[in-house]
Amino acid sequence: MNILIIGSGGREHALGWKIKQSKKAGQLFFIPGNAGTSELGENIPLGVNDFQNIKKTIVEKQADMVVVGPEVPLVGGIHDFISADPELQNVKVVGPKKAGAQLEGSKDFAKDFMMRHNIPTAKYLSVTNANLNQGINFLKSLKAPYVLKADGLAAGKGVLILDSLSEAETMLKKMLEGKFGEASNKVVVEEFLNGTEVSVFVITDGKDYKLLPEAKDYKRIGEGDTGLNTGGMGAISPVPFAGREFMNKVETRIIKPTINGLKMEKIDYSGFIFFGLINVDGEPFVIEYNVRLGDPETEAILLRVKSDFVDLLEGAADGTLAKKEIEIDKKTAATVMLVSGGYPGSYPKGLKISGLEKVANSTVFHAGTKPEGSSVVTSGGRVLAVSSTGNNKTEALETSYRNAEVIQFDKKYYRKDLGFDL
Ligand code: ATP
Repeated sequence: MNILIIGSGGREHALGWKIKQSKKAGQLFFIPGNAGTSELGENIPLGVNDFQNIKKTIVEKQADMVVVGPEVPLVGGIHDFISADPELQNVKVVGPKKAGAQLEGSKDFAKDFMMRHNIPTAKYLSVTNANLNQGINFLKSLKAPYVLKADGLAAGKGVLILDSLSEAETMLKKMLEGKFGEASNKVVVEEFLNGTEVSVFVITDGKDYKLLPEAKDYKRIGEGDTGLNTGGMGAISPVPFAGREFMNKVETRIIKPTINGLKMEKIDYSGFIFFGLINVDGEPFVIEYNVRLGDPETEAILLRVKSDFVDLLEGAADGTLAKKEIEIDKKTAATVMLVSGGYPGSYPKGLKISGLEKVANSTVFHAGTKPEGSSVVTSGGRVLAVSSTGNNKTEALETSYRNAEVIQFDKKYYRKDLGFDL
């Protein structure tokens, strides 16, 4: 089976790496990919939203399956576009259609969906200019800190957490005035939940689901989880506090009602659901839904999936997931993200990376890299994800940290305290 993977990050490199291990995998193509994916298949330099040229590539390369990594093309309707095209009728798509992608594309939709299906989440009110006064009264009814979320996609930057009520009122108005463009024409005002976050993933065909390994990711740039938010500085799987009792609650109260809700609302869904959860005194609540895998969690969790991944992807795309089995390795996986000095602020690009050939016992997924002649150079803030497994968190982290030192580029930075809280 020829498979086209859409996206260019560590997540897509990890997906390609796992897919390549399958007996069912034929040629792999990446749009646009990175230096790492070019070793697994062919990179095609197109934008992830360039649907017309993506179609041409599918036809020309005789792709049988398209796996969509990032949310933007999903929310933009890439699955609907492929399904509607008579020339692409036999192409399997992993990733929801536009209707299902609204779970991530609109926080107001997601919250409404959770209310309709009785799924535990923070108290909220959706606010527009038309009910601003009501929004301010709702803010006044909450305790600090105050959570404001742009309804639409804002590249992970659309959530503000503010300590004072006056600041929250001001920012609410600014958001409605277009602080995040159209994405904040509507704002979800939410109660703050105090707890520990965990990312839970399933693969689903919209009727059945298989639980993938859960992970904890580290979002802040600084040690002790301080400083600015990033795309993610590392991940660890499994998560000790997400034991059997907690995960039973997650399945019963959150995952099953979500899948049943999609079915009841006749929303066709194929692909992944990422439940961004928070554990409040042992009780799980949904912070957000994502309609794709997370990055860097993917670079950790796929190391623990033992089953044939293409078989699972096929099950999700064809509606035959009930017949598939998933086997998860008990080992711990740890991913350490190497980033460019200065990130998440401004940082240099084009710096030569060395030492990749000396890495032992880790898998290095490329995130922001590109080939330049015979070398590999940095091309983004998050550069490489160094992933390893071990019998426990200490072993897995030790291996990743050892290899993080073997790889060199000017002003390389990584957090040395991953797992400190587990
Ligand atoms: P992401 O970068 O994960 O895609 P996003 O912009 O889609 O983020 P959310 O995940 O909803 O937004 O929120 C971002 C972060 O803000 C969460 O990971 C969590 O740490 C924090 N957060 C969001 N909602 C709440 C809440 N109700 N209570 C406490 N913290 C929250």
